[in-house]
Formats: sequence, C-alpha cells, structure tokens
Amino acid sequence: MAEQEKFDVIIIGAGPAGSSAAIRLMQANPDMNVALIDRGKPIGSKNISGGVIWGQSLSEILPKWWEEAPIERRIIQKRTGFLTKEDSFVLELSFPEWEHDPPNAISVLQTKFVTWLSKKAEKYGVNVFEGIAVDDLSRDVNGRFNGIIQAGEEFQTDVVIIADGANSRLTLASGLRREMKKEHYALGVKEVLRLPESIINERFNLESKLGVASEYVVGGLMGGIRSGGFLYTNKDTLSVGVITQIDTMNDPNFPPVNILESFKKHPYIQKLIKNSELVEYSSHWVPEGGIHMLPRLYDDHVLVVGDAAGFVLSNGIIIQGINYAISSGILAADTILHAQKSNDFTKKTLKKYEQKLKESYILKDLKTFQGIHSIIRNPRLYEQYPELLIGIFKDMLTENSLPKNHLLKLFRSQKKKKQVSWLQLIRDGITLRHF
Ligand SMILES: Cc1cc2nc3c(=O)[nH]c(=O)nc-3n(C[C@H](O)[C@H](O)[C@H](O)COP(=O)(O)OP(=O)(O)OC[C@H]3O[C@@H](n4cnc5c(N)ncnc54)[C@H](O)[C@@H]3O)c2cc1C
Repeated sequence: MAEQEKFDVIIIGAGPAGSSAAIRLMQANPDMNVALIDRGKPIGSKNISGGVIWGQSLSEILPKWWEEAPIERRIIQKRTGFLTKEDSFVLELSFPEWEHDPPNAISVLQTKFVTWLSKKAEKYGVNVFEGIAVDDLSRDVNGRFNGIIQAGEEFQTDVVIIADGANSRLTLASGLRREMKKEHYALGVKEVLRLPESIINERFNLESKLGVASEYVVGGLMGGIRSGGFLYTNKDTLSVGVITQIDTMNDPNFPPVNILESFKKHPYIQKLIKNSELVEYSSHWVPEGGIHMLPRLYDDHVLVVGDAAGFVLSNGIIIQGINYAISSGILAADTILHAQKSNDFTKKTLKKYEQKLKESYILKDLKTFQGIHSIIRNPRLYEQYPELLIGIFKDMLTENSLPKNHLLKLFRSQKKKKQVSWLQLIRDGITLRHF
C-alpha cells in the first residue's frame, strides 16, 4: 500500500463478510478503488469455521456460485442430539431434495473457500493486500473516522468496513464496542481428520458428493461443561470440533483440547472417526451473544459487518455465521453505493445500514432467538436433561425380564434419580418457547 493512495472504501478482513462486500461494490461500480486488507498470508490462513454454509446468501453476488466454489459435499442430512458419558440420543433427518440446485447447505474447508472468494474479489478489480494487520482507525481534526492506521502510517478513505471477525480489535479500538463480555463468547476448537472418501461414504451411509452435518449437546461427557460438538463430512476429510462457553471453562482439568478429545472418544463419535489422520488443528472465538452483544453498527465513515458485529446464531444444535457474514457484507456495500450518490458518508446516511439489517433475516433471526441464551446457559440442558431423556429410553428398551412400566412411571423415576424438581421442569419448559 502506498501512503499517498486514497481508497474509496477500505475493508479490514477478507473473510466471507469482507470479500462479499468488496465483490458487491465492484460489481455495481467497477471504477471504484476498493482495498481489501487481511493480516493472513496467504489469505484464508487465519479463517476458521466448521465449514457448513447454510442458504443462498452468496447467490446475490454470484448467482451460480455452487458451480465454481470449492465445495466438499452437499449436505442432505442433519443429525442432532445429546451425548452423555457413553450413551447417545440422536435424531437423524434426511432431505433428499437438498441435493438439488440451489443447495440448501454445503460443506467447505474454510481456508480454501475464503481464498477462492478473495480471488473472486481480485478478479472484479479489488486491491487485495495480504499479510497486513490494521492497527486502528484514523480520525480527522473533528474526530470523525477518515481511514486506517497501519504500522504508524495513515491511509485515507471515504468509508471503512470493519470485517475483522469475532475477536474484533478494531470495533474495540474505535470505541464502537465498549467491552467484550465473557458470557457473550464461546471458544471453538476444531480438527480436520483425513479418511478415504469410500470409508466416509460407508460409515455415514452416503453417496459420493453428499454429506451430513451433525451437532450434539455434549456437556454430559465432561461434568456439565456447557459445550456443543459438531461433525461434518467433507470429500475425504471430516471436520470435528467443540464449541464451549468461555465462562464455563474454569475447570483446569478441562482445557479446550481435553473437551475435544472427550468428544472424539465418545463411542458414538469414535466409530465414525476411527483410523483417521489429523491434518489440521485450529481454534477461534465464536460470538454467541446475538442481539445482546451488537456494537454500534455504523458511525461517520464506518460500518461493521459479520462476526465483528456478532452476527452468529449458535445454540448447541445450530451454528450459522457464514451466511450472516456474507449478507451483512452485501448490505454494507449497498449502503455505501447509496451514500456515494449524495457523496455523504456521515452517519446520517450510513444509518441506512442498520435499517437494511433490521429488514433482513439477519437481525430478524437474532431477534427471534434473543431468548435462546436462557436455554443455552442453563446447566441442566448439558447434563441432567440429556441423562434423564436417555435414562427413560434405556429403561424402556432394555429387556431384563422384569415387569415393564408406563412412560410416566419411568419419567418419575428418572426425574428423581437426576434430582430434577417439577418447578425446574416447568420453568425450563417455559423457556423452550425461545427455541
Ligand atoms: C469452530 C467454529 C465452527 C463454526 N462453524 C460454522 C459453520 O459450520 N457454519 C457457519 O455458518 N458458521 C460457522 N462458524 C462461524 C463462522 O465461521 C463465522 O461466522 C464466519 O466465518 C464469519 O465471517 P467473517 O468474515 O465475519 O469473519 P472471519 O471469517 O473471522 O474473517 C475475519 C478476517 O479478518 C482478518 N483480520 C482480523 N483482524 C485483522 C486486522 N487487524 N487487520 C487485517 N485483517 C484482520 C482475519 O485474518 C480474517 O481473515 C463457526 C465458527 C467457529 C469458530
């Protein structure tokens, strides 16, 4: 980057959010001078995700993206449930129509996908800079943002898009976010495990190119730690990981790597991943606070998108953020294109971004599920309830030549064993309306 260069837009972070914003800007106005800056070298090397992209958010900028994106498998099956110390209660849902275009969900290896998307941006004429970490935003004499600061140098622009991900130093440094609260974040730890394609097909009962996305509540494995696990099928690898609420991780016996190991050793998971070879290990924050953790989303000459804004839906059996990242990047670009018409990049014009988010599925989803935190932070969901549920079915289905009991009696007996009171059940039952 040359110091004297002035960009129309500077985007910090070339993840799904930043690259999507860049592509939308250049598609609408190929004469724009857009900089897309990422600290990763090569781009993609800092990006971590389980890697299932839900929905068609990309279709808005790349209508037949699935024909060219580095897709691993089309997801046609979802498995979800509870794992206790040894047992499992898993629901398997198959939807063959998800195989057809446009795909409902696909699995990717995030590094490859992010690299592909940033290369797409480059093809549209975006100036892509890799291996550069932006330190802060710069301000003019009136205190308005007017660019970025990198290694002591200032680069000016009409608008900065902050797309620097979950651990967004720049929303903090710029004052758009006051603080990062522990209860709003989880830690994701993930491995990629290699297995021959034919074995994946056999173990998951799949045809080639088709895949499974599975998420489990796994707290019962580890003394009630609030954690969810995932297992996704790629072509000849599996993505396996756990996402654990940070403020529950104060047990020194359970550093994140042990949580992942316990998940992998569970009999249900072990039989799916056995004899695989570890090819990648990574960890990353997940902003789980939803609508309760939004920063200021715009200010004079600045917009915040993707994980930096906290646009993630995570509830133990669903994790989605890539779709929100892509869509928020596109909405930020549209807001800037509108502001260009009046050459006014102050918050008076940029506030349209928030309006667009409210009208879109992004803030509507976060609002719909705003109460989810009372469920996912409830310790009983992670240990007592899975054990209670599995206990009932185990009692019902284990044949021991003793007289059988009605469901209600089995339920009462398990409820007593797991020390769950009626009051807790009623209270927790009421919170299920947030799901
Ligand atoms: C373990 C795990 C599993 C997940 N699984 C899924 C899933 O299956 N499906 C799903 O939809 N979502 C999933 N998510 C969430 C999803 O990965 C994110 O929501 C999504 O990647 C956010 O995209 P983004 O562009 O906002 O941020 P990121 O992808 O994090 O990109 C931010 C970019 O900013 C760059 N950057 C950061 N700071 C600076 C700086 N100072 N200067 C320059 N560049 C900088 C980084 O290098 C990075 O490239 C998962 C997350 C985790 C951690």
